[in-house]
Amino acid sequence: MVEMLKGIAASDGVAVAKAYLLVEPDLSFSKVTVEDIEAEFARLDDALAQSKAELQQIRDKAASTLGEKEAQVFDAHLMVLSDPEMIGQIKDSIKTNKVNAEAALKEVTDMFITLFEGMEGNAYMQERAADIRDVTKRVLAHLLNVVLPSPAMINEEVIVVAHDLTPSDTAQLDRKYVKAFITNIGGRTSHSAIMARSLEIPAVVGTESITSKVKAGELLAVNGLTGEAIVDPTAEQQAEFIKAGEAYAAQKAEWEKLKNAQTVTADGKHFELAANIGTPKDLKGVHANGAEAVGLYRTEFLYMDSPDFPSEEDQFQAYKAVLEGMEGKPVVVRTMDIGGDKELPYLDLPHEMNPFLGYRALRISLSELGDAMFRTQLRALLRASAYGTLRVMFPMVATLKEFRAAKQMFEEEKAKLVAEGVAVSDSIQVGIMIEIPAAAVLADKFAKEVDFFSIGTNDLIQYTMAADRMSEKVSYLYQPYNPSILRLIKNVIDAAHAEGKWAGMCGEMAGDQTAVPLLVGMGLDEFSMSATSVLKTRSLMKRLDSAKMQELADRALNDCDTMEEVVELINEYVK
Ligand code: PEP
Ligand code: MG
Repeated sequence: MVEMLKGIAASDGVAVAKAYLLVEPDLSFSKVTVEDIEAEFARLDDALAQSKAELQQIRDKAASTLGEKEAQVFDAHLMVLSDPEMIGQIKDSIKTNKVNAEAALKEVTDMFITLFEGMEGNAYMQERAADIRDVTKRVLAHLLNVVLPSPAMINEEVIVVAHDLTPSDTAQLDRKYVKAFITNIGGRTSHSAIMARSLEIPAVVGTESITSKVKAGELLAVNGLTGEAIVDPTAEQQAEFIKAGEAYAAQKAEWEKLKNAQTVTADGKHFELAANIGTPKDLKGVHANGAEAVGLYRTEFLYMDSPDFPSEEDQFQAYKAVLEGMEGKPVVVRTMDIGGDKELPYLDLPHEMNPFLGYRALRISLSELGDAMFRTQLRALLRASAYGTLRVMFPMVATLKEFRAAKQMFEEEKAKLVAEGVAVSDSIQVGIMIEIPAAAVLADKFAKEVDFFSIGTNDLIQYTMAADRMSEKVSYLYQPYNPSILRLIKNVIDAAHAEGKWAGMCGEMAGDQTAVPLLVGMGLDEFSMSATSVLKTRSLMKRLDSAKMQELADRALNDCDTMEEVVELINEYVK
């Protein structure tokens, strides 16, 4: 039956393909008494062998698409499957209790999981518990003849349907086969949406109910430009979606012509257009889209893609690769922003009610737990500074005291390296993200001590409006054009300029086509966005007159009461 859905447009592009449901399958079973012990052993052995073959396949795929290091997590799973002690205990339980393999498997693995999870503070054993949990699910699925979906197993053109996608699920999606994804929850600035934009996978998030509306294999049409989706579309509807996709492709081809052009407004004012990246591999997109700098390198993916803390050398190599790849153009590297929706399996973070308001980013770096981790990162960055134009940025700064503490650690590590005779650039700018309202309000004080600001609107908006950026329920409050947000942004830009510093923006608002005219008018110096938004923004800026945009910004800041009035005003000024 044709079913229309409306979600949040999260990544541009259109697709029509079969649905691939990436949802938790039902693995419930009953405990039964068995007579034929040998037959039960055989069922277990079969399930173990099938799980091993499948994991080996996933491991090989991960090694070729993500790298050998990322594939190592599957080695740990394969080890669990070959653990003679655990398998011996499962068989003992089948034999002595005369129970089916499912029940024996669950009983024994639950015991190991409880034991390992109870070893608090022992991150290694906690991780083993997580491995056993994962492997148990796979073996159980084989015993029950249920297919366990996995992004790595996709080998035909599909649209991925999920309740939610974690950043690590998203990283595993293969663009060759995954034509789009659509989820129940999430907002435009959740990290899976941000990653979809850099992978150029069309996406719609926050539909609330897609997983219950579509069956595996059913045809699905998704429009990431409008947020619309249709389950089981008619031939006519399919043609409409395909036409919209072609129109978008034609527009993209027009934008491509601006790849090597200057970013100037109609009256000749230059703005810096930079790109956000998550890994050195993303540089390809930076160059392909003609970005002039890297305005945000989210280094936490280096930590998330690694089975353990990345070493100073590994980090150095990654930072050096980016700096060299940019050939002297500026690269803003943000120190790690773990926490919020980004977890590290090997870092034992406490479970919190409000992780976005909790122990996150610089708060971890400045605590005892993060001290060594932070210093290692600073050293790697300092060493890499000799290979290009490095700018270091601290995330989630709320107070000047935090900035001073971080800056002091930076200076300490720099002095140590210099004493060791290591080449370190002496012109590294050190700045902060403005993503906490306290820092935005106090920007005049910060501006005296930092080298630059980069406004992180993804968080600044959620904290100012008290509206979780991941929640589709309160997405109506997630208002980049609200006069309150605009005033905070203006305050930050003016404070920077009063001290002769520059102010950029690396939140998604920087590439928002409705917001760009306002930001031009407010005098933002640098715009950093998903690489895929760079060319359309350059194209838009070419049509703007900066003096007129200044007038627009003044009116929006002073005369408008609501977001709606601001949008109306923008439409009046930008036809
Ligand atoms: C932001 O908060 O705007 C930002 C760029 O950081 P992140 O999206 O990684 O939290
Ligand atoms: Mg942020």
